[in-house]
Amino acid sequence: MNKADQFEGCILGGAIGDAYGSGYEYLTKENESAYYLFGKPKTQEPKWQITDDTQLTLATVEAMTETAEISPETIADKFLSDFRKGKLSGLGASTLGAFRALDVGAHWSLAGRKGEYAAGNGPAMRIAPLAFLDEIDYSIVRDICFLTHHNDEAYVGAKCVVLAIREILNGNWNGKSCLVEKIIPQIPDTRVRDRLIRVKEMENLEAIGALGNDGYVVNSVPLAIAAANQTLAFGPEEIFSKLVSIGGDTDTNCSIAGQIMGTLIGKKAFPDNLIKKLERLAEYPRINRSVKRFIKSKKLVSRGLSLQSALQGLNLSFTFSTPYHDP
Ligand SMILES: [Mg+2]
Repeated sequence: MNKADQFEGCILGGAIGDAYGSGYEYLTKENESAYYLFGKPKTQEPKWQITDDTQLTLATVEAMTETAEISPETIADKFLSDFRKGKLSGLGASTLGAFRALDVGAHWSLAGRKGEYAAGNGPAMRIAPLAFLDEIDYSIVRDICFLTHHNDEAYVGAKCVVLAIREILNGNWNGKSCLVEKIIPQIPDTRVRDRLIRVKEMENLEAIGALGNDGYVVNSVPLAIAAANQTLAFGPEEIFSKLVSIGGDTDTNCSIAGQIMGTLIGKKAFPDNLIKKLERLAEYPRINRSVKRFIKSKKLVSRGLSLQSALQGLNLSFTFSTPYHDP
């Protein structure tokens, strides 16, 4: 796989996780011993839909495509534009508050929520595209987080997602060793780090989820990374299913895990039924278009294409009739 395949896997994997988990967000577990006087009501299959996790990730992708220089201003402008067009759904309280502040003219540096309630997973769920930049300025990553969540834990949680993806891109993690262990030395002393240290040796995802599974970044990000750490053992569908049964902020937990898993294994390794379900969503053309444009603008061309253009450079004129396959 090359970087273009990894980027496509990341964004599509995140969108699949979001859609998979969105029908289960904060659902209370069924009480098995409940008695229904008029018979048990029919349970409907949860609706597959993408939410703010994917919408804000796509907005980040599009802002990065449209401008060469990434900055909190360009991201804030794009978020505000999508907010005003009604393109965002299911926003968390901090993000919604920040967008309302931006909407009435607040500067990006003053829009984000402050204090302990700002330690949400909102920045972590939308930060993945920044991991694909060649060089990362983490002070810009921090400002982009502070745009909605002015909180060190929220920033460190987002940084963990960027680091997890970069461990894959840099060839430091191939799914076989412990991803959590690779992240811990790269982040400052925070509650997020304490939780990663605690879950490092834990293999049972349900036990990790029992420590916390809601939108608090300390619960959400370590759980999602620990889930992605088991990609090769269980595969994405079983991991999404486990995260959904753990409960809490299921769309974000599945979305972040999906972004990391997708970077590791690529779109082709996701089960066909999940890819087809994603392709049937009304938002799919936008997802596909945004991914393709980003790949082109950042020159993450696939190996097949670069070989073709290299040959064109040599004035050899024939076309490739066989599709390119990765080993
Ligand atoms: Mg959501």
